[in-house]
Amino acid sequence: AAKERGKNTYQFYTAHLMERSARKMELENDLRKALIKQELQVYYQPQIDLQTGVVIGMEALLRWPHEKYGFISPLEFIPIAEETGLIVPLGEWVLRRACQQNKQWQEEGMACIPVAVNLSARQMQEENFIDMIIRVLHETELKPQFLDLEITESMVQDIENSTVILHKLKDLGVKLSIDDFGTGYSSLSYLKHLPIDKIKIDKSFVDDIIHHENQGAIVKTIIDMGHNLQFKVIAEGIEKEEQVQFLMEYGCIMGQGYFFSPPLHSKEMKKFLSQDKEVLERT
Ligand code: C2E
Ligand code: MG
Ligand code: MG
Ligand code: MG
Repeated sequence: AAKERGKNTYQFYTAHLMERSARKMELENDLRKALIKQELQVYYQPQIDLQTGVVIGMEALLRWPHEKYGFISPLEFIPIAEETGLIVPLGEWVLRRACQQNKQWQEEGMACIPVAVNLSARQMQEENFIDMIIRVLHETELKPQFLDLEITESMVQDIENSTVILHKLKDLGVKLSIDDFGTGYSSLSYLKHLPIDKIKIDKSFVDDIIHHENQGAIVKTIIDMGHNLQFKVIAEGIEKEEQVQFLMEYGCIMGQGYFFSPPLHSKEMKKFLSQDKEVLERT
């Protein structure tokens, strides 16, 4: 019976794995087509000054409306794009869209605030990566200070010449942020010597503020150390008012999360920016 069970389990897993790789292959094909047919979209999530409620930036996040499966999470398709190398053209596409859009909003009289774009290791390892960034900035006519590039701790550590690349980016005048800070294996002191502007405290620590009895001791430490090292600090994944209160008490004055707004379609983001503009003009 044990043998029989073992066999069944084995069959179950093989079937499961085959199903998974079938979906993966399907998605890989579809993603390639979606990119060509311009079916992907860029959404924008506002970044907020916690003290005034004003929008101070935005993060560009890829959205893929799939005709059969509906919206597919970037957590599923970005790794596929990375494995296949499709992330290189895809990443350039997002960057160009985000820069174009930001430039357009500025021309339409919206607040001049930066757009953050997520990068993948694979992109940064491309030989012409820096040239690509220069070219996109040039083509879209976006001033470099309005581009904020998000990289992770592991990218800094795994990419051989990451320090050189980061310095080159810094010299262009773009901003650099460390995404999901605290989930990697690096320490803040490791980042001290890098030309980084900002750290983004990962959502898991922001969750801890209300779910753990230490009430965000780690968050407080990250905020203090970050500021001591002259980094700006922004909290990710804020969902509750209570978290905002604690973060401000701890000295963190920037945040992003569903509490303020989910990532928005560009039309919705423009409305968000317009409302903000009205408020600012009235005060
Ligand atoms: P990320 O860069 O850390 O982006 C933040 C993620 O948290 C986004 O998920 C956002 O929708 C989600 N989020 C924001 N506020 C909240 C909140 O209050 N609660 C919860 N539960 N979630 C919140 P999303 O858009 O699904 O993206 C997931 C990840 O996929 C991103 O994490 C990023 O690593 C990657 N990604 C997305 N777009 C791109 C892209 O254009 N290029 C690359 N390389 N990666 C991307
Ligand atoms: Mg990010
Ligand atoms: Mg993040
Ligand atoms: Mg991330």
